[in-house]
Amino acid sequence: MRILDIREAALPMRSDLRNSVFSFAEMTVSIVAVLTDRIVDGAPVVGYAFNSIGRYACGESMRARFIPRLMQSPPDALLDPDGFLDPRKALRCMLVGEKPGGDAARSVPVGTIETALWDAVAKARRLPLAELVSQSWRQRPMEARVPCYVGGGWYRPDSKPGDVTDELRRHLDAGYTHMKIKVGGLSLAEDIARVEEALKLLGDPQRLSVDANGRFSTKEALDYARALAPFELRWFEEPCHPNDFKASAAVAQAYPGALATGENLFSAEDVWNQVRFGGWRNDLDYLQMDPPQIYGIGTYADLVTELATDGWDCSRHFPHGGNQMSLALVAGLGLGGCEAYPGFFGAFGGYADDSQVSDGWMPAPQRPGIGFEGQGRLHALMREVAVGWF
Ligand code: MG
Repeated sequence: MRILDIREAALPMRSDLRNSVFSFAEMTVSIVAVLTDRIVDGAPVVGYAFNSIGRYACGESMRARFIPRLMQSPPDALLDPDGFLDPRKALRCMLVGEKPGGDAARSVPVGTIETALWDAVAKARRLPLAELVSQSWRQRPMEARVPCYVGGGWYRPDSKPGDVTDELRRHLDAGYTHMKIKVGGLSLAEDIARVEEALKLLGDPQRLSVDANGRFSTKEALDYARALAPFELRWFEEPCHPNDFKASAAVAQAYPGALATGENLFSAEDVWNQVRFGGWRNDLDYLQMDPPQIYGIGTYADLVTELATDGWDCSRHFPHGGNQMSLALVAGLGLGGCEAYPGFFGAFGGYADDSQVSDGWMPAPQRPGIGFEGQGRLHALMREVAVGWF
């Protein structure tokens, strides 16, 4: 199995939603397509991925360094013993010549290409990626279904009281049971009113989480921690800057409930720093790395395996992203659950068009590869990147 070509295209996200820190109005996304020489059902196997949500398109470094390194590598050096492409070897190949540290400068472009390679390998093996991941890392079949919650409660340009209720009611009607809403974009009193509004609808506080998107100073985070603690919510996400481990530890010391972070950590070392120095508790808190943004599927799965030796059960992982790349890992590794952004982020937020969440559970993907072929709008964009290959 050989790589014949790799392409990247940048597309606008087309969303005017806001969290407490920034708007998505200017946000762009990179789609990657990998053409291989493997033929399945009469057509060449093409692997796809995109660089998830919240980090801008990153094609320049792909074209300058990572794609040429793969294309110039002896093809046999990128194969596993069965003759399929080995994304682990591809990862090592892409990192030749890269200085240690500063992972955020490359983990997203490298991880997006790596994820597209996994899509291609799973398609060549005619398996859902979740199944291939489960067999590779757990030597057992993938989960049949996984918990799925809504990451929502956005600040809208025309926000008004009652918005939270309206939005969460829609998610309940769609079959979701657990939700997350933003905090930190209004005053503490106004944000607490939003929490109370959500709880009025959801009832059980373990069905509601909040997300500050790393906005707070240590003092502000502690003020919110004090105000939120009595609600006993499911988790309080990213109170402080993701690399301020001292602030993280201070919040963990003060807050008796569960905390969550990880979507803005870009290496295994960053995650280990969080659990070693950020005060994270392996029997209470959560980790939420974004697979294509932390060097891809293999790095994520290895990290989950290594963290298990430090007492981190699979159930403590909720990968960020709200897409089928995260779903493959949740179903493949038996993680705590995945996130969904129903109706947000256009073609880039969501799952297969025929997947139906019921009572908070999402069925495991059944299509070969990641399953983008089941997402009409997204797959149409991906096919445009691959135009001329078929
Ligand atoms: Mg978040």
